[in-house]
Amino acid sequence: MEPVMICAIFSHPDDESFGVAGSVAFYQARGVRSALICTTRGAAGMCNGLAETPAELAAVRSEEFACAARTMGAAAYELLDFADGAGQNWDCSDLGARLEGLLARWRPPVVITFDKDGVTRHPDHIAVHSVVSGLIAAHGPELGVRRLFYQVVTCPEEASPEGPSLACVPPETVDVSVDIRPFEPVKRAALACHRTQAADTAHLLDQPAGSLRAEHYQLAWSADGWRPCAGAADLLVDLVSWPGERAVHE
Ligand SMILES: [Zn+2]
Repeated sequence: MEPVMICAIFSHPDDESFGVAGSVAFYQARGVRSALICTTRGAAGMCNGLAETPAELAAVRSEEFACAARTMGAAAYELLDFADGAGQNWDCSDLGARLEGLLARWRPPVVITFDKDGVTRHPDHIAVHSVVSGLIAAHGPELGVRRLFYQVVTCPEEASPEGPSLACVPPETVDVSVDIRPFEPVKRAALACHRTQAADTAHLLDQPAGSLRAEHYQLAWSADGWRPCAGAADLLVDLVSWPGERAVHE
């Protein structure tokens, strides 16, 4: 079987669809396998009338996560069971050990997680950022990891007063932007899997077709000092040779 090349690690079912659905679909279309991990089952989230208890909500959101993972074409996906909303109290060494076990199984050369602000500043996002960053800095090479990227959103050119207060980054600090325009319908379908989170996904799903254009990443760490060129559009450049690329080098 082809190896898993990319593993994205987030906190809640739906983070993966907001963050990397287009990129996973982009690589899946090129025969590259990706894996997804969420560290909670989302039991503390909104239920949109689809669950009565936190346990029921966790079960529904686990199904929604599986739906999204299949929709975007993830080759593997895992949900852990850390307490939703309690990131500041998680046992970080336990989480690190669980993640290390999954990375040891897949040995992905590229890992993606939240940046230090976690896009929404949610404590669970920040906990995942901190545990994954520490794990890769300490054990990345022995786990086969070559690069760690942070998934980020870019600040709009003009701040909208009523827009959501996301922790965005200046566009010039982005290292890699994956062009997801051909996969916008896939990203929308993955987001739509999260029916319990409809109040949040509406922010993107209500935008006109053609508005979900790119997913952005900052390089956080590389095993060998690798850095992307300006304007890079591929998380796997220099790790994978694409059909047609060979002709350029010969
Ligand atoms: Zn989240």
